[in-house]
Amino acid sequence: MRSIKWKLIIMYLGLVLIVMIVSGSYILLSLRNIEIEKSRKELELYADKINIQVIEDNDAERFQENLLRTGPDAVGIHGNILDANGDTIASTSTLEGPYPVYNDQAIIAAMYGMSSFSSGKKSTDSFALLKEWMSYATPIKGEDDKVNYIIYTRLDAGDMRASLDQTTKIIIIAVAISLFLAVIMGYVFAQTLTGPILALTRGAKNMAEGNFEQSLKVRSSDEIGQLTSSFNYMASELTKNMSEISKEKNRLEILLHNMSDGVISFNKDGELMLANTAALEMLEVDKIDMDFSTFIREYDINSAVYLDMGNEPSKKVTFPVGKQFINANFTPYYSVAGQIEGLVVVLQDITEQKKLDDMRKEFVANVSHELRTPLTTVKSYTETLMDGAIEDREIAMEFLGIIDGEADRMAFLVRDLLQLSRFDNKQVHLDITQIEMNEFLLLTVKQNKIHAEAKRQVLSFEPYSENVVIYGDRDRVGQVVNNIVTNAMKYSLEQAVIKIYISEEDSYFKISVKDTGMGISREDLPRIFERFYRVDKARSRAMGGTGLGLAIAKEIMESHGGRLTAESEYGKGTVMTMWFPKEPPKPQIQEV
Ligand code: ADP
Repeated sequence: MRSIKWKLIIMYLGLVLIVMIVSGSYILLSLRNIEIEKSRKELELYADKINIQVIEDNDAERFQENLLRTGPDAVGIHGNILDANGDTIASTSTLEGPYPVYNDQAIIAAMYGMSSFSSGKKSTDSFALLKEWMSYATPIKGEDDKVNYIIYTRLDAGDMRASLDQTTKIIIIAVAISLFLAVIMGYVFAQTLTGPILALTRGAKNMAEGNFEQSLKVRSSDEIGQLTSSFNYMASELTKNMSEISKEKNRLEILLHNMSDGVISFNKDGELMLANTAALEMLEVDKIDMDFSTFIREYDINSAVYLDMGNEPSKKVTFPVGKQFINANFTPYYSVAGQIEGLVVVLQDITEQKKLDDMRKEFVANVSHELRTPLTTVKSYTETLMDGAIEDREIAMEFLGIIDGEADRMAFLVRDLLQLSRFDNKQVHLDITQIEMNEFLLLTVKQNKIHAEAKRQVLSFEPYSENVVIYGDRDRVGQVVNNIVTNAMKYSLEQAVIKIYISEEDSYFKISVKDTGMGISREDLPRIFERFYRVDKARSRAMGGTGLGLAIAKEIMESHGGRLTAESEYGKGTVMTMWFPKEPPKPQIQEV
């Protein structure tokens, strides 16, 4: 009953009922009045007729006879003539006396000289039937204004009542039919009205559940039709806007998740809003599930970072995560009204940068250190010479020899550093030619044999079964091979055996130098290619090493598209392997 449909039907019914009742009652009353008026007219006319035809110029004896002759104009009208006392002296309801006796208000009024009607009287007729009568009594006065006779006409009101009853019945039936039709019409009307409203309600509900792609059928051009059209327009606009928003969101998400920088954001209550993939990777977690204060505590971040940093634009903090170093930039973000909304933390992995920084510092320290030692020697010997040692020629020559040696050492160091710097700046030009390695290594062995023999070491090379042609810069390849062979001899004791051999693997020729020397410990092995790294500094320096040989060798190998590897067992010996690609290298380093 709460639906508009039923409210409409009930309103419709009520309206029809009221209209029908009012109009029905009006019709009934009007009909009744017309009927009554008509009957009164007839009663009056008949009374006049009796007066003219029977009473005037007639004496009382002939009243009955004449009265019977007057035919009434309407059916069921009875005429009577009464004397001044109200006794009936002639009547149409009987042929001869005795005449009926009437007891009627109208008759009494007529006795007092007034004409009047009376209705609704029930009395029996001549056939002893109880009937409802309508009557009229009028006095006939003599010259002295005395009532001589009374004409009393009456008619059976039953017919009128029956006809009115019939009309009432018809009206009631009409009302019932109208009501029935009203229910049907009301239903149909309500249906056409509420149908689109229900469809709109369903549409709105669907929309609330997130289904924007819907279009309702517009069935009319009335207000509801216009509302439906507006609803469809709204739905299509919303769909468009939503898809724009979700596209924008997707774009941002893709951007955020593919950024190399980590991004985390917190709202002003410190709750986590988002964290991208890079941030998870940098913090070495699968999921971040913490608020701002937990985050600060967990990563032991400087307490100078607050959720509400006031007007401070941003704050940089560096903290370690495992072996990594992360740089976090805390920046507050504001609402349009300038209120702090939260904090964005941008994370950058600065491990590499820090490593490079540390290496650079270490490198500068190493170079200074390497230069300081020979410089101190040169200075102290020069001072000694100046203090008088120059006088003694023998001592002076010895000192000058030492100074010369130290100068050489510095020159070697500077030469090596320059070479490395050229590699770093990609300023090395390689003069690539085909080198047959069997031949090349036989020559190398020949050149170094004398040094090996001086240490009573055995240096051997077993030529490969086939020609081994590599593509390289003859001088540079020679520098690498010599460096490795020299190292093998340097870091092996007397009577050690140093073997050079060639093998193949996939697309590489491998030239290995195996010694039975002191070997390199597991911890030192990965570091021997670093600049200035020496396992035993004193020993290396004593042998004239700068600690840059292998670093340069590695650069040369890489510039040839190859690599340099080392395997070693501490105390047993080392195998250094040069990998040369079989294919000619594509020149990568251009002289500037
Ligand atoms: P250095 O000028 O000191 O020889 P290198 O760069 O040539 O510098 O070598 C670096 C370090 O690697 C050496 O100081 C030495 O400790 C170690 N090393 C190189 N070759 C060998 C080897 N064949 N056996 C043992 N240790 C070696």
